[in-house]
Amino acid sequence: MTMEKTCSECKGKMKRLETETSEGIGYTYFKCQACGDEIVDKEQLQALAEHYRTLKRYHAKLSKWGLSLGLRIPKDLVKQYHFKEDKEIIIIPEKDGLKLVV
Ligand SMILES: [Zn+2]
Repeated sequence: MTMEKTCSECKGKMKRLETETSEGIGYTYFKCQACGDEIVDKEQLQALAEHYRTLKRYHAKLSKWGLSLGLRIPKDLVKQYHFKEDKEIIIIPEKDGLKLVV
């Protein structure tokens, strides 16, 4: 992959820039120095699409466990994060929900 790209519109020199989506997913793109045309790498787009697919939501049920409640982690997530029984995770209370840190 070359770092130098030429604009398909005006043949101007394109500069490689980095930015991120509102979700904080970083990606690079090229902006033409002459006409301002912007292009995103096809591979990067695919990587972004892949990333968004993994941002899907899961529904989990709480079940009574002594005086506490147990959170049932869906099996897809167990696999993805390699959860094991008795593994300790960190729960961070946030304004709009709870964040689990592995
Ligand atoms: Zn251009």
